[in-house]
This record gives sequence, C-alpha cells and structure tokens, in this order.
Amino acid sequence: MILTTTSATSDIKAAVAIVGAGPAGMALALALARAQIDTVVIESGSEREDASATALSSAAAISPTNHAPLEIATNRRLGGATWTWSGRCVDIDPIDFEPRPDAEVPGWPITYEDATAEATTAATFLGIGKPQFETQVAGFAAESVLRTRLERWCIDPRLARRHAAEIRTSAKARFYTGLTCTGITLDTNGRFARGLRVKYRSGSEHLVTARHYVLAASGIETARLLLASNEIASAVANNSCGWLGRGYMGHFEGVLADIILDGLSEDALDYRLDDTGCFIRPRLMLAPEAIRGNGLLNIAFFPSNVPLGNWRHRSGALSAAALALSMPIVGRTLEPGPVREILLGQPLNAADLRQHLLNIVGDGPGFINFAVRAITQQLKRPRAPGMFVRNKARRYSLKYIAEQSPSLASRILLSCDRDALGLPRVVVEKSILGTDTESVLKAHDILDRELRRLKLGRLEYLAAPADRGAIAVTHGADGYHQMGLVRMGNDRQSSVVDANCAIHAVPNLHVASSAVFPRSGQANPTFLIVCLALRLAQRLIADLKG
Ligand SMILES: Cc1cc2nc3c(=O)[nH]c(=O)nc-3n(C[C@H](O)[C@H](O)[C@H](O)COP(=O)(O)OP(=O)(O)OC[C@H]3O[C@@H](n4cnc5c(N)ncnc54)[C@H](O)[C@@H]3O)c2cc1C
Repeated sequence: MILTTTSATSDIKAAVAIVGAGPAGMALALALARAQIDTVVIESGSEREDASATALSSAAAISPTNHAPLEIATNRRLGGATWTWSGRCVDIDPIDFEPRPDAEVPGWPITYEDATAEATTAATFLGIGKPQFETQVAGFAAESVLRTRLERWCIDPRLARRHAAEIRTSAKARFYTGLTCTGITLDTNGRFARGLRVKYRSGSEHLVTARHYVLAASGIETARLLLASNEIASAVANNSCGWLGRGYMGHFEGVLADIILDGLSEDALDYRLDDTGCFIRPRLMLAPEAIRGNGLLNIAFFPSNVPLGNWRHRSGALSAAALALSMPIVGRTLEPGPVREILLGQPLNAADLRQHLLNIVGDGPGFINFAVRAITQQLKRPRAPGMFVRNKARRYSLKYIAEQSPSLASRILLSCDRDALGLPRVVVEKSILGTDTESVLKAHDILDRELRRLKLGRLEYLAAPADRGAIAVTHGADGYHQMGLVRMGNDRQSSVVDANCAIHAVPNLHVASSAVFPRSGQANPTFLIVCLALRLAQRLIADLKG
C-alpha cells in the first residue's frame, strides 16, 4: 500500500526497511511482500513528478562538466529513474566476472550463474519476456571474433505504472512516499544497524527500525547516505577500506566512426518484435578470446542513423528532415530545444544544402517509402523504441558503449553545502584513464579489420588517428549508469559489501544498487541491478523465515 501522509505521529517498524522505490527497491519489496515479510519502503519522492524532491539530489559540483546533472540522472519519484529511462535491458557478460590484473580491474566474488540466478523473475518484473540474450547474425563465420548479444526493451518502461496495482494493494509492503532517509544509526556496540533516520518535507523527523535494512537509493545517493552516516563511514574505514565512495564507473558512450555495410544486412541489425511481445535488437561484440588476447575492456557496438545534417547518408527522407530542421522558423517550431542541433549534428552551409536537395530529388520513391514507414511505425502498438532509417549509401553512425575501469581517483565527496533536509550535497569527480580510451580505439580497429576480412562492411573514422583518443575521453563522462561506489568483494580492505550485498562491517545493512558492481562491463546496468535485488530478497526471506 502507498502511505502519502506528510508527517507521521510515531516511528515506523518492519522486518525489512528499504530506502528507495526505483527498480531495485520495488523489485525487492514486492518479492519480500509476496513471501509475507513485513516490509516498508522509504521513498523520498511522491507518485507524481516533483522537481523540488529531485533537487535534493543535485550536486555541489561535478567534474567533468559533461557528466549528466544528477537532477536528470535520477528522479525522486515512486519508480525512480524508470520514469525517464529508455527501458533497454542487457545481460552482463560472463567475461566480466574475470579479474583483469593487467588492467587493475577486479573480478566479482560471485559467478555469472549466481548473479543471474533470478533472471527469469527479473525479466518478468521488467516486462522483457524471457531472459534470452543469445542470438546469431547471418554472415558471422564460426571462427570470427565477431559476436552478437541481444538488447531487450521493456514493454512498458514505466515500472511504477506496470506494478501499480500490486504496490497499492499489497498488505505486506508499505510504501511511504515524501519521506527521505537522512542517515543510518548503529547500535551501542557499533555492530549492527539500529535504525534509519527519516524526515518528512515538513521537517518532522522519525526513526525506522527493522531487522534488515537495504539501501536502494541509486548508485550515488546510496554512497552519499553511507558517507553522511558518520558511524557507518567510520565502521567501514576501521576495516582499512578506502573504497567507500570511490571506484566510480559509468560507461563510455559515443560515436568515433561510421559503419558502411556490405554483406551485413540492415534487417539483421534492426529492432524486431520477438514472440514475447517485446522489442529486441542485436549488439555487435567481440569474442571473449579477442577481448582477453588483446588486453581489452568490454565493448559493444550498434549502428544508428547518421546525424541528419550529414548528406553522405544519401537518404532523401533524412535530407528533407535536415532541411526542415535547419529552416529558422520551421526548425524551431519542430524542435525548439537543443535537440535540434544534436539531430542535425552540424550547421548546414550552401554546399551541404545543395547535396541535401540532390538527395531528395534522387530518392523520390525512397522518400515516400520512408514517410509510409514512419507513419505506420508511429501508429503501431507496441511502438518500436527507435527508428533505424535505411539509406542508399548504407552508411550509419556506429554507436559504442564500453567499459570503464575503477580507479580510486573517480569518487564522490561530501561538500559543506547542504540540501533542503540538511544532508551534505555531493561533489562528483571522475577521471578517465588513458588505458580505457586506448582499449576503445583498439576495439574499433579490430572490428574494422574483421568486417573487411569477412566482407561484411567497414568503418570510416570521423577524426584523424591523433585526435581520436581525446574524443573518446569526452565520451566517458556518463552519470546515468552509476556503478562501483560501494563495491562488492571478499576482501574487506578492498571492498565495502560482501558477496551477499551486506556491508562487511555492518551485516544487517545491505545495498541493492549498481553501486556494488566491481566492474562495469558493457551492459546497461538495470537488468543486473534487479537480478541482484531479487537474489538479496531470497537471502532475506531465508534468514527471516528460517
Ligand atoms: C535518461 C536515462 C536513461 C537510462 N536508460 C537506461 C537503459 O536503457 N537501460 C538501463 O539498464 N539503465 C538505464 N538508465 C539507468 C537506470 O535508470 C538505472 O540503472 C536504474 O533506474 C537504477 O535503479 P535504482 O533502483 O538503483 O535507482 P533509481 O531508479 O535512481 O531509484 C532510486 C530511488 O531512491 C529514491 N531515493 C533516493 N535517495 C533517497 C533517500 N535519501 N531517501 C528516500 N528515497 C531516496 C529516489 O527517489 C528513487 O525513487 C537510464 C537512466 C536515465 C536517467
């Protein structure tokens, strides 16, 4: 049930208390409630969009400056960031579980099978059909270093809406909205968590007590709460662990090259509806042997539409859209915000305009086909998560998403500046390692060589070799995928939580978040976040019912 009072008269008690009702907190709470465990969820936001709640997350300072502002990367609302995410679910790769001492990247203290033990329940919760991520693309020779794995897109990415009926009617899970956790206190022995300090926006303060506590407040907010709770931060530091709030990772995401297809068909790379009613799309990847053998970090690629302003796509439809967007009044009416510049990719000069007009004239039937396809796609249900517009030149932007390695220098700190409820705001500092960008460049070269060898296509880089590393650095800011700040491991000195997501120093305090990921891999994190939250639910159920 949802409790929306603006102040409570008494303290709150339950068997399990969870902070945060994003995908992690919701999946965990509903699993516990189904097992008849008395559960409370403390959610800072309400059921509606509330900018003043989300402003509680805003940072005091962020470096690099193109890291996503935290008010955009998070959403203080029942459902968390799933109100803004695109719902793309990707499985972690088994190779991510291997330590990489050569690159100073740790492995996981659990196996791939352990981490994904709850994959079927996670897939049901997320609405992605079945946890089937394997696929074969025609043209990939068996001995090739090319591989593919599937992305699966949520049928309804707004997860609080998808689970609204169960959240409202559950007798065992109480969701307190508009209530913010401001700290965790320890018992007099300093051994176990004794309660959560929580505050209503009115300022009235209470204690939430439970046998087990779970922080599921997103990557940065979870680390912030732990650092701001002096007793917890000292207990972690007393284990000589300096990793709380450090090892911050996201993903590199960007475009360094166009891909020009030859033997590889667009159909094989496009969105497709599978038999469970969800959209799937393959990612191009490199075989584990190629990753290991070349000392690379993980990476995935997928072709996407080239920026509209680039007339080399030879598509009349894209050129017509580019001309419309570049006209002062029409362009601003169609797309008033900064997205207009992003879509165009470049300001158009007279020579570009001429080439775009030639594209439109030369592509008459193509333009009509596009218009029919675009309208059909808009009307169709379910609607595809994106539109992959074919063009005569068979030229597409090659997007990539790549792993970042954890470093002590990438961290969050508490500033002296405080939010409206008195919690210190964070300073985010992320450093991008040269070895990571080298890995990104090398992986592109390997992909290019292999596509050419198999006559599947080729890459055309957008910048000269000497400039590519600096461009890749700008792709590493992220902020949407917040991993590593409360890392998992067996060694208390180099990790904050154990293999069961419990803080080493405080065994009844757990973390359900990508903050525990010791490696970032290439996969968008939410599928694994939900798998681990459900695995934690099983452990708590066994403990409380055993
Ligand atoms: C624009 C965008 C696109 C994305 N696209 C994808 C994608 O396609 N695929 C993917 O895997 N991931 C994607 N992500 C990331 C994804 O949204 C997150 O991985 C996921 O939401 C994390 O879930 P969570 O439950 O850990 O945290 P959140 O979803 O952030 O939820 C945390 C909850 O905790 C609450 N909270 C925070 N602090 C407190 C406090 N002190 N007290 C009480 N409550 C608190 C918040 O209000 C919020 O409801 C995207 C993110 C964004 C912003």
